Amino acid sequence: ERTTVLITGCSSGIGLGLAARLAADAARRFQVYATMRDLAKGERLLERLGGSCPDTLELLQLDVTDPCSLAAAAQHVQGQQLDVLVCNAGVGLMGPLETCSEQAMKTLFDVNVFGAVRTIQAFLPAMKSRRAGRIVVSSSIGGLQGLPFNAVYCASKFALEGLCESLAIILRPFNIHLTLVECGPVHTSFMANLQRPDPEGSEMQGLDAETQRLYRRYLGHCQSIFRDTAQEVEQVLPLFLEAIGSPCPPLRCASTQLLAPLCRLRLSSPDGSAYVRAMHDFVFGGTETGGEQP
Ligand code: NAD
Repeated sequence: ERTTVLITGCSSGIGLGLAARLAADAARRFQVYATMRDLAKGERLLERLGGSCPDTLELLQLDVTDPCSLAAAAQHVQGQQLDVLVCNAGVGLMGPLETCSEQAMKTLFDVNVFGAVRTIQAFLPAMKSRRAGRIVVSSSIGGLQGLPFNAVYCASKFALEGLCESLAIILRPFNIHLTLVECGPVHTSFMANLQRPDPEGSEMQGLDAETQRLYRRYLGHCQSIFRDTAQEVEQVLPLFLEAIGSPCPPLRCASTQLLAPLCRLRLSSPDGSAYVRAMHDFVFGGTETGGEQP
């Protein structure tokens, strides 16, 4: 009996890498439903697997914001029991809060939060009735701590964290394990896909000069963090494989200890001000901007 796994967001990045890895498993332990919004983008996954679709893989259309497409995918999978659901689809949004449009914020929540909720809702009843299953959710370091100029993205990942931690409590008696995977920077199309205003562009007009300056500095910081510390998809896949395969998977696992000391500060200093100060200094430098007069 193969372990059946359905993954969302498989046209690129972590979803693509995970689907390819599982479908190409030498012991053929997995039956993979690699889902994506636009099936035409399945080519990359098939190329990765040598140009043809192995019998361990099926591509399925699934837009997590579209309840009809979810219902169709769930209908298709039904009959074959689903052992593992990987809610991976996600998008980013960066920039000063003042530049985030209502539409962009709603779209982000629709994919990152409600998309995961809808997907879980679609497959949970069958897992509950079988009293078995695994749910793996792509969270982020930004789900554990606030990051500058990522307020809306972090809000969506914090929402996922609260959602999943709450759900995990109820799933215990059903023998369903839920794991949140918190990646740091990973080389994928995420950064290219994410919406962010050009620091010299029209969205910045009317924004105060200090915020504009901080944003430019943040983009520089972001670039160097990515250059120096970003992981390859292959390096983060073991976290997903553990969540899928371990007899007793954790509720959370992080791909990097990069921001762990800052994260611990949130716990050791629960009023939060030490974290805010330390994160500000980490990103913008301690003395240069701290307490600077306009
Ligand atoms: P990515 O952009 O390569 O992959 C995200 C995938 O989600 C894309 O294939 C995209 O088409 C898909 N998607 C977007 N909207 C969708 C929708 N409505 N329905 C179905 N699919 C949709 O980036 P990635 O890095 O592989 O991202 C995967 C997950 O990892 C995301 O949830 C992201 O938030 C999280 N993450 C990424 C990083 C990073 O640095 N790359 C860090 C932490 C967390």
